[in-house]
Amino acid sequence: MSPGSNRRRSLFAWYFRSNLLYRILAGLILGAVVGVILGVISLNDPAPTVADHYVAFAGFFGDLFIRLLKLTVVPVVLFSLIGGAATIAPSHLGRVGLKVLLYYLLTSAVAVAIGLTLATLIRPGWGFHAAGGAAIDVPLRATPALADVLLNIIPTNPIESIARGDILPIIVFAILFGIGVSLVKDSTNPKAARSAEILHEVCVAAADTMYTIVRGVMHYAPIGVFALISIVFAEQGPRAVGTLLLVTLAVYLGLMLQMFVCYGSFLAAYGLNIATFIRKVWQPFITAVVTRSSSSTLPITLRVTEEKLGAPRSIASFSLPLGATINMDGTAIYLGVCAAFIGLAVNQPLGFHQQITVVVTATLASIGTAGVPGQGAIMLLMVLDSVGLPVESGTATAAAYAMILGIDALLDMGRTGLNVIGDMVGTVVVSKSEKVLDSSCWE
Ligand code: ASP
Repeated sequence: MSPGSNRRRSLFAWYFRSNLLYRILAGLILGAVVGVILGVISLNDPAPTVADHYVAFAGFFGDLFIRLLKLTVVPVVLFSLIGGAATIAPSHLGRVGLKVLLYYLLTSAVAVAIGLTLATLIRPGWGFHAAGGAAIDVPLRATPALADVLLNIIPTNPIESIARGDILPIIVFAILFGIGVSLVKDSTNPKAARSAEILHEVCVAAADTMYTIVRGVMHYAPIGVFALISIVFAEQGPRAVGTLLLVTLAVYLGLMLQMFVCYGSFLAAYGLNIATFIRKVWQPFITAVVTRSSSSTLPITLRVTEEKLGAPRSIASFSLPLGATINMDGTAIYLGVCAAFIGLAVNQPLGFHQQITVVVTATLASIGTAGVPGQGAIMLLMVLDSVGLPVESGTATAAAYAMILGIDALLDMGRTGLNVIGDMVGTVVVSKSEKVLDSSCWE
């Protein structure tokens, strides 16, 4: 064997043996540094530069990470939820569902209020007057009727929903299927009962298999994390330190307050240590930050919440996919801050009634936001409409909105990280309240 191939082997061995946290953190920090350097280079030379070539090159490695994660989302949700629902009584599921929904609604409303309060105190758009004239492509925002939204959660063809990756209909189908399996398991016909038992075990094994694949994908995470973070910093980094510094600061301060005050209080109220929580959730957190997608992060969120935080599959497999689809506290904070910023920037600061409207519409908008990159910015249009600041091409509001869009990826990183944390806090709190949290994970 040549010395070259020996060296390659030991490099691989070193890579796989070294601590995953350190590898991912190294990817994150180095990626941010490379991104900032490239961002500064392209700032001084706006013509196509080395930064553009780098972004095209690194995009491949970043997309590879995202695709590897997405590959596991639907099977993880489907199998873990069938396995989980088959072990829990429907009445218990109903109570858990209600608690989870209440927690999601309450924390989202608190999040918008934090965002608005900070924006009122920091006044990120004060003294900065957006001029009209920006011609931007305003995305279409036809709001579907509430009845249709609710009806569409029930799939008419589950296979189609699975193929399209629509999480809410998949949740409904998997719960019904799981309950069906548990009823057949209890049937008086021994053959049917045995077959249902096997079917349940197959689903549990399939979910465990998917978790094993997710664990493997995480070994590629350091490279994916490096690529994704460097791209965002190279493209948007310099813009965040200019006029929009205060908006960025207000959003990130809001995210921290929600984490330490709101979630901290929930955890403390249930006797759970926030430091232990933070130490255990870094994998889904960093993945959410760099992929900017709660949905793509879902497989890791599920695995960590079960294996490291000790939540049972019967609750986590339901509350986390639901949370990744409807619970967006980070997005809610962003909506509060940005609505206030745009009001100030166009010289129409939000009055008290408008602020209340923002709390209501931003809470609803965060529920309607899909867990994919950039969705919050589309929901901001709806919130602005509700307070009489429609974004129409050529208006000052459009100019201010376009500025926010210019740093959306940077804001999306933080808000997605918090979105995912919020789902995990809700899951452990509800599990603890149901007395089914494995406390050995918290010692
Ligand atoms: N990217 C966010 C998420 O996936 C949604 C948003 O754009 O606010 O959670």
